[in-house]
Amino acid sequence: MPNIDKDELLKSIPNQLFINGEWRDSADGSTLDVINPATEEKLATIASAKPEDGMDALAAASEAQKEWARTSSRYRAELLRDAFELVMERKDDFAAIMTLEMGKPLDQAYGEVTYGGEFLRWFSEGAPRVMGNYYPTPEGSIQVITHKRPVGPSLLITPWNFPFAMATRKVAPALAAGCTTILKPAEITPLTSLLFVKILEDVGVPKGVVNIIPTSSTPEMTGPMIADARLRKLSFTGSTQVGRALLKEASQNVLRTSMELGGLAPFIVFEDADVDLAVEAALATKMRNMGEACNASSRFYVHSDVADEFTQKFSKGMSELVVGDGMEEGVDVGPIVSAKQLASVEDLVTRSLQSGARIEVGGQRLDRPGFFFPPTVLSVDSADNPLLEEEVFGPVAPVYSFDTEEEVLELANKSQYGLAGYVYTNDMQRVIRLGEELQVGMIGVNSGTISNAAAPFGGVKASGLGREGGTEGIEEFLETIYIGTPRG
Ligand code: NAD
Repeated sequence: MPNIDKDELLKSIPNQLFINGEWRDSADGSTLDVINPATEEKLATIASAKPEDGMDALAAASEAQKEWARTSSRYRAELLRDAFELVMERKDDFAAIMTLEMGKPLDQAYGEVTYGGEFLRWFSEGAPRVMGNYYPTPEGSIQVITHKRPVGPSLLITPWNFPFAMATRKVAPALAAGCTTILKPAEITPLTSLLFVKILEDVGVPKGVVNIIPTSSTPEMTGPMIADARLRKLSFTGSTQVGRALLKEASQNVLRTSMELGGLAPFIVFEDADVDLAVEAALATKMRNMGEACNASSRFYVHSDVADEFTQKFSKGMSELVVGDGMEEGVDVGPIVSAKQLASVEDLVTRSLQSGARIEVGGQRLDRPGFFFPPTVLSVDSADNPLLEEEVFGPVAPVYSFDTEEEVLELANKSQYGLAGYVYTNDMQRVIRLGEELQVGMIGVNSGTISNAAAPFGGVKASGLGREGGTEGIEEFLETIYIGTPRG
């Protein structure tokens, strides 16, 4: 547990917008409050950007673009590397502020600092490795070379569930590629992003290259920015519903878009699986971040031969998890991020019960200050129960028993979502078959960890467009330019 003075930490985090290299209030002095979901206490009051501020940020990013694109990749790489080092020096502050504003247990917040920080290091190493190509055309009459050019000013919209990693996963590749950026963090967790932008200022990122505009008037502010032809890229992580609306808006200027959207990951346990290993991973993949993760396991499909054993061991594991304020030692499960999110979890559980689900453990919000919902397991007999079809984004796990591989594949693939999937089996041929057939962008085989800066993260179907991380992540911010000449 770090020795953090909460008041000192909050004082060290900017409470204003950062536009064109200056911290300033919003155009009309509007503010928004940031709440600690574990206590419902106000943590901070920060500037809330208005549409004029959004346009100022876009003007600054657009103004800075040309010069930033001309900087050497080594220079950009070293700025990112310096930012990585500074984040690591201040890892206690980053972890504490994430727990305070978002609720995740402190050890998981440290995990996010490591994971999120790695995007800075990874893309600092990627910046100098952006290459072009040479194309000898088959008829031999022309020769073509290509090079990569930054796409241009980029609006980066992030969600509240991983306030640090979702920002670094976008800002780092954008800067590495030579794009200027405008970061719009989720309004309920802006403090982590403000601290991150302060770090970027401290390491010397030039003015206008990084701007941050938290706001409680999101669509009013982002709409005119997206409609402005100076913006060239929209990178969004959030719900499928908002992603769809943004894709429509982005079509007007034919913006390059990256969309990291919702998920409903199937967790499939076959009859030959190591059940104890599967239970351990089920607990980790379901309960990491209180279930508020896009790649959280959401639908547990368990073969009928092992369903009773799995349900009993999983329910026992869930009931043993310690729920509480994430700042306290020994806590496994923090609060849900907001009253609104808690209400949506409760609503989905109620509808699931009305559709015939049975509670194995948990099931009702906790009667204490803060937005707490206990780890919950439900047995579900009907394949169209709402919990098997909608993203719960909370600590709730429905278990459904199946009999054949064909049946479970059909169940898994019938969702509109296709982000992640988890498979527990020892049959390699089955792994290959599922790798070909499961309609998801990422599959964990006998592994409860999906996501690493070095690997492409992203989904298919309604889970999104594009990939973040890996060698693919920087490509999202680059255009390939063709230069052809007649063969001399
Ligand atoms: P959200 O869609 O409500 O909000 C995400 C961001 O979009 C926030 O910054 C919000 O202020 C902004 N926003 C909301 N309405 C907007 C609008 N009309 N125009 C422009 N911006 C708007 O999502 P959330 O509740 O913050 O996050 C949870 C969702 O994010 C879940 O669906 C989860 O699966 C998804 N998610 C996906 C990934 C991934 O990589 N695929 C990662 C994390 C979270």
